[in-house]
Amino acid sequence: MDVIAQISEIVGPNAVLIDEADMQGFVVEWRDKFFGKARAVVQPKTTEEVAEVVKICAASKTPLVPQGGNTSLVGGSIPFTGGDEIILSLSRMNTIRDVDPLNGTMTVDAGCILANLQQAALEKGFHFPLRIGSEGSCQIGGNISTNAGGVQVLHYGNAREQVLGLEVVLPDGRIWDGLTSLRKDNTGYDLKQLFIGAEGTLGIVTGAVVKMYPEPKYTQIALVAIPSVEAAVEFLSLARQMSGDQVTAIELISRYCIDMVVRHVPNFTDPMPTRYDWHLLVELSSSSTPTLKELMENILAEGLEKGIVLDAIVPASEAQQQRLWNLREEISGAQKPEGGSIKHDISVPVSRFADFIREADNAVAKIVPDFRSVAFGHIGDGNVHYNPMQPADMDREKYLSHWEEISRVVHDIAVNMRGSISAEHGIGRLKADDLVHYKSEVEIELMRKIKKAFDPDGIMNPGKLLK
Ligand SMILES: Cc1cc2nc3c(=O)[nH]c(=O)nc-3n(C[C@H](O)[C@H](O)[C@H](O)COP(=O)(O)OP(=O)(O)OC[C@H]3O[C@@H](n4cnc5c(N)ncnc54)[C@H](O)[C@@H]3O)c2cc1C
Repeated sequence: MDVIAQISEIVGPNAVLIDEADMQGFVVEWRDKFFGKARAVVQPKTTEEVAEVVKICAASKTPLVPQGGNTSLVGGSIPFTGGDEIILSLSRMNTIRDVDPLNGTMTVDAGCILANLQQAALEKGFHFPLRIGSEGSCQIGGNISTNAGGVQVLHYGNAREQVLGLEVVLPDGRIWDGLTSLRKDNTGYDLKQLFIGAEGTLGIVTGAVVKMYPEPKYTQIALVAIPSVEAAVEFLSLARQMSGDQVTAIELISRYCIDMVVRHVPNFTDPMPTRYDWHLLVELSSSSTPTLKELMENILAEGLEKGIVLDAIVPASEAQQQRLWNLREEISGAQKPEGGSIKHDISVPVSRFADFIREADNAVAKIVPDFRSVAFGHIGDGNVHYNPMQPADMDREKYLSHWEEISRVVHDIAVNMRGSISAEHGIGRLKADDLVHYKSEVEIELMRKIKKAFDPDGIMNPGKLLK
């Protein structure tokens, strides 16, 4: 029997899409950067169904592309154009299996939308700390498979640090039940770590046990004008010391980023009455300290004294606080109408952040002299979205033709600082060549051996992450 017919018998014909029109939303990526062609989209409802589907694919050596919310931006969830790959969508596996307040954990299906996990935790008085712009559509299985970050990594860590246990369907169709909720387990290799950040190349994550934290009942935001990027790093250190580590987010925002948002987001006015070059959006949170506004003001006063703060807005109401978060969240979208930008998602040691921006700006200026520097992001994690923008009067395509040349110098600078070419979004298709270029021979050899050990026939998301 044909592979698609066999799979239909397992999941039911309604859970197998084969018409091009029905598959359209699954073969195009969020930014329209990657397109593909699939033989079918399969939407199983249970782990057992996933296992049976994978067994059929293993027997026929049919390549599979696991897909969550399809928000990753690097092409990992999109098939190539050959039309022989099957997309395995986790969207119908969306049950929160258990919330355990005493253990501080949730056990969830991989297809649960991230925002639904945050809500489920909140309903029990807890906090699930992965906070990313795509949280309304990305899935926890995708977050785990990309080791997602976001704005609260500084305080809580990235996806890797939220996972206690995993359930995975292996490339031969066996189910590995590693759904432990233990915080201590020193019994050899920690297998779950291999699947976290594997971008679907070692197996299909079907379930997870994740940590919950006490709900931060009190939060205080401030938009802080600072004299330089160096001052940002000093301010972070000061704020952590003075708050007893209650800084839950700190985002760097350049003047040009604010200008873009004001220009392109309807009804958005500049919150800062005076123009400064650099700003920080700082968040303090606590489950027990209601006096965070006072604490924030004390930190800012100390910063002023030290010359690392120039000005600040400390909003009193929640609505005003949200408005400042909107400023940060609108930056990505506001870049598009400004023209072409060459995007990088790099990380460097926090102490090298300012050096990175200076060196990268100098290097890009040698290639395109009048480019506009766009840098924003999670400075507390040393992670900057460094997206040099075309000069205002340059042709977009002409500027974008410099993509490889500019990316190479930017990545070289980050790697020379022992940084990373992908801090958050992963490798996917976009950076598969770069991975081989920048990792050492030993690393690539070990990665290939791991891939071979799990997936000897190479059916699990072939050509992604590791070529
Ligand atoms: C507006 C916006 C803002 C964003 N902000 C951030 C941010 O702040 N931080 C950040 O880290 N990322 C961010 N991202 C990127 C993206 O949302 C994350 O990478 C997210 O974790 C991807 O989840 P997903 O469910 O959409 O996965 P997908 O895009 O569907 O898949 C991503 C990869 O994981 C694999 N995969 C998916 N599900 C599974 C599974 N169950 N088992 C095995 N493999 C699987 C896929 O094959 C693919 O290789 C942002 C994206 C957008 C569009």
